[in-house]
Amino acid sequence: MDCLFCSIIKGEIPSTKVYEDEQVYAFKDINPMAPVHVLIIPKTHLSSINDVTEENSAVIAHIYAVAAKLAKDFGISESGYRVVSNCGADAGQTVFHLHFHLLGGKKLNVEMG
Ligand code: 5GP
Ligand code: ZN
Repeated sequence: MDCLFCSIIKGEIPSTKVYEDEQVYAFKDINPMAPVHVLIIPKTHLSSINDVTEENSAVIAHIYAVAAKLAKDFGISESGYRVVSNCGADAGQTVFHLHFHLLGGKKLNVEMG
């Protein structure tokens, strides 16, 4: 399958890794929208939240635990941050490998829709 983020996980496309374990990979967004802008992705390919089921959803909880750890590492756990996943066209999803944006380090735009 031709997937940009699967290629990043395999190291075929370079990325700035900030965390990795057996379940997830986290790296800096190439076009940061905030001083801290990290993408956290499951190593198993899921296209979006639409692919999350009761059977495979444990990795989502793990991703949130990794987000909390990275927020601490980047010094934004107290100042605040946002974790967001865009699903589909109306949300502006551009890469169809499930990913969670971790954003912080500035006062974020409050617009939610
Ligand atoms: P989406 O719009 O799908 O929620 O987010 C996709 C994100 O992936 C965007 O913030 C974009 O900047 C980032 N991105 C796209 N291609 C690459 C890449 O090749 N490397 C990295 N590090 N980030 C990428
Ligand atoms: Zn993929």
